[in-house]
Amino acid sequence: MSSRGPLVAPMILVVEDNEVNQLLTASVLEREGFVVDLAGTAVQAIERLRLHTPDLILMDIQLPGMDGLSLTRQLKADPATARITVVALTAHAMTGDREQSLAAGCAGYISKPIDTRTFGTQVREFLINSVPASSPSRSDATLNGQ
Ligand code: MN
Repeated sequence: MSSRGPLVAPMILVVEDNEVNQLLTASVLEREGFVVDLAGTAVQAIERLRLHTPDLILMDIQLPGMDGLSLTRQLKADPATARITVVALTAHAMTGDREQSLAAGCAGYISKPIDTRTFGTQVREFLINSVPASSPSRSDATLNGQ
């Protein structure tokens, strides 16, 4: 994990069960200056969310056990997590995933496999357009850190 800079970098929780995708996503996000937290299942994601409130969640739809859209619905129904922006990670070919993601409460989706050249920009655009999820200091840092 990269060290924190003088400004608090936005924190992204990546919920992804595939280890290769986890490592690739985390390394691209860290290179782009984000702080990354990881979870491989919905249960792990809920545990991580008890420890910190991320600025954004990247949510793989297909997870073992509880799937990503069910987890998103659960987070959106809980006042403690409802304001966190959730962006779905969807397999490119799956038509209907976008509508289902939005219906579950996601702000949008990013297709997998991710494009490592544009991924950071895509994530930043969701952060800019999101309602601040946590403390004012963190949201200020989010906006100033572009
Ligand atoms: Mn998956």
